[in-house]
Amino acid sequence: MDELRRLIREIPDFPKPGILFYDITTLLKDSRGLKLAVNRMSEALANQPVDVVIGVEARGFIFAPPLAYQLGAGFVPVRKPKKLPGEVERISYDLEYGSDTLEIHRDAIQPGQRVVIADDLLATGGTAAATAALVEKLGGEVVGLTFLVELTFLGGREKLARYPVTSLLTYD
Ligand code: IMP
Repeated sequence: MDELRRLIREIPDFPKPGILFYDITTLLKDSRGLKLAVNRMSEALANQPVDVVIGVEARGFIFAPPLAYQLGAGFVPVRKPKKLPGEVERISYDLEYGSDTLEIHRDAIQPGQRVVIADDLLATGGTAAATAALVEKLGGEVVGLTFLVELTFLGGREKLARYPVTSLLTYD
């Protein structure tokens, strides 16, 4: 697991002063690192049927498709407003300052489908909880959420207490 940790670059004061940003691009460009990360994510989910893996724009689009491929599932994007061309279901959620909105195609998930949500990083859990709510609006069942990095001190896991959550690396 240390190999993955070593490949993540920490950048202070990005995007704002006082924020320590965990930059995963250094892991992505490493051939061993990328494979290890995707393999570990899929191993944690492999003991159950999964119909769809959701990736949240933008960095969720990196891990969700290879994960879906490995699990034999489909990939569904959750996007920022006004990007998806078909009819959408929409959800707004609070940020520290202001709010954000996410959208999914209404026909992207069928009732009863088993859904995994993948993203690069779990911080406050707002993004992931909103995505899970979108899945449930469409009648899907969230059977797992998986993250490369979890910032445990921000308490995102508590917001997702109803779901199985796995993360490959934690930072306290
Ligand atoms: P949350 O909604 O507070 O859990 O924030 C999670 C979202 O913010 C994810 O989609 C991440 O891509 C992004 N994010 C927040 N902090 C970082 C960071 O330090 N590195 C990379 N992405 C981050």
